[in-house]
Amino acid sequence: MKQLLGFGLALWATASLADTTYTAADFAQVRKFDSHVHANVDDHRFLDIAQKDGFELLSINVDYPDFPQLDKQAAVAHKLQKEAPQRFHYLTTFTMKGFEGPTWTADSIRHIDEEVARGAVGVKVWKNVGMVERDAQHNLIFLDDPRFDGLMNHLEGKGIPLVAHQAEPKNCWLPLDQMTTENDRSYFREHPEYYMYLHPEQPSYEALMGHRDRFVAKHPRLIFIGAHLASLEWNVDELAKFFDTYPNTTADLAARMTQVQFQSNADREKVRQFFIKYQDRLLYGTDLTQNPPDPKARAQNPPDNGSGFEVEADEFWRSDWVYLATSGVQHIEAIKADVKGLALPKSVIDKIYYANAHRVFTRLKPAH
Ligand SMILES: [Zn+2]
Repeated sequence: MKQLLGFGLALWATASLADTTYTAADFAQVRKFDSHVHANVDDHRFLDIAQKDGFELLSINVDYPDFPQLDKQAAVAHKLQKEAPQRFHYLTTFTMKGFEGPTWTADSIRHIDEEVARGAVGVKVWKNVGMVERDAQHNLIFLDDPRFDGLMNHLEGKGIPLVAHQAEPKNCWLPLDQMTTENDRSYFREHPEYYMYLHPEQPSYEALMGHRDRFVAKHPRLIFIGAHLASLEWNVDELAKFFDTYPNTTADLAARMTQVQFQSNADREKVRQFFIKYQDRLLYGTDLTQNPPDPKARAQNPPDNGSGFEVEADEFWRSDWVYLATSGVQHIEAIKADVKGLALPKSVIDKIYYANAHRVFTRLKPAH
């Protein structure tokens, strides 16, 4: 009897797993939302592959020197959104130029309100705040600086979400040979200006996280989305603490999946349980970037290897799907290891890949 019962349970477990998880073949049919892309070209290739693979896109305008100027990024966003309002969405941003001038807050609010009226569903703040921008006294400007209060109180009051890329992956403070992933190693090798291990005079990782946390604490009603796993990509326990401390926060997975895979290769069940416990707090995102061709640009993500943007986007999305939705094993070159998928339940996948984004970005038109 005991044996029979065991056998029955095993059968039940197998059947139930098949019912409750997706397969690799389900990929294109399930509706999905990539919460972190940069569509800086209006040639439709991004929209075409998104349509084919069942994605809505949230394109993030950002004050990044390797990207086209802000007005050019906005022009592309306006055009694509007009052409595909159900599939293409965008975040606006603000410039730090004139930050200490008397009209910066009012000018930034006016610009953001105009963009939101036009269709932007939120605002992005980049790591230049905290790591690059300095005031007249040559002090770095941090996100919890009171001079941001006027703008941030406005976002908080109006329910305009803020996506914040603050600091960098922890690898940025480590020597190249101690970094956990190849993608960080190559990024920081190519961007020495952002590689903090080479700049000990700059704030530590912990100091930057402290400024970010004090900012979030100061604006408890702000809809706060921590880009790139809120820069706590290296440890799901740390991210869990952040979520527990600040209940109005979520985080996107953009450009940090390899860090998660590194952790699940050490303890798959722990990472799987993290995703299940925090299924309402995580947004699928990639950081896929389509930029105008520029031989000097270093910001191709993934790197343009000539096979075409659509092929790379499709491969990138499918690899993440196999990892999150199935138990399939794939080789991940960035961590030089075979990685087994988390096989998250369908209900969790549906939230991380779609419903959470539509809940957090309240200005998105209701799904249909
Ligand atoms: Zn990005």
